Amino acid sequence: MLMIKDYIRPKSLEEAYELLSSNKNSRILGGGAFLRLGSKRINTAIDLCDLDLNYIKETDEGIEIGAMTTFRDLEKSQILKEYFGNLLADALKGIMGVQFRNYVTVGASVYSKYGFSDLITALLALDCTLVF
Ligand SMILES: Cc1cc2nc3c(=O)[nH]c(=O)nc-3n(C[C@H](O)[C@H](O)[C@H](O)COP(=O)(O)OP(=O)(O)OC[C@H]3O[C@@H](n4cnc5c(N)ncnc54)[C@H](O)[C@@H]3O)c2cc1C
Repeated sequence: MLMIKDYIRPKSLEEAYELLSSNKNSRILGGGAFLRLGSKRINTAIDLCDLDLNYIKETDEGIEIGAMTTFRDLEKSQILKEYFGNLLADALKGIMGVQFRNYVTVGASVYSKYGFSDLITALLALDCTLVF
């Protein structure tokens, strides 16, 4: 069973980083889909939902995708469709159901480096740069 002692929604990236690095039993929460399967004791669960990290935006250098962006956001994005056609939507559409893809996050999937990840395979083909 997953046990969480404290749940915190930091108001800045600096605060989140401090919470994460000050205790080795702190964990960042993405959608929680994978975390909830394990039986762990988390001292501080850090929810990044107040940090405006859910975005897909076009800049002069390329397209930026925030860590809290969900798989469903990627699937529906007009910007991604315009540049890459259906590549990302096709890679993700077979993963569980829409409800699941509505809360599973890009940051968690990339950080966790799952060997089975359909997202990582698609991102590799797009020659992405990761910013941690
Ligand atoms: C039942 C099931 C079936 C799945 N099937 C597939 C599939 O067919 N294809 C596929 O590609 N994927 C599949 N996945 C994986 C899924 O797509 C996600 O990659 C996975 O659930 C992690 O996303 P999450 O947001 O739920 O992360 P969480 O469960 O919240 O977190 C997972 C890990 O990432 C860490 N983390 C979370 N956010 C961040 C962040 N911003 N920065 C650093 N670390 C972070 C957490 O601390 C935790 O260690 C499946 C997952 C489940 C549970």
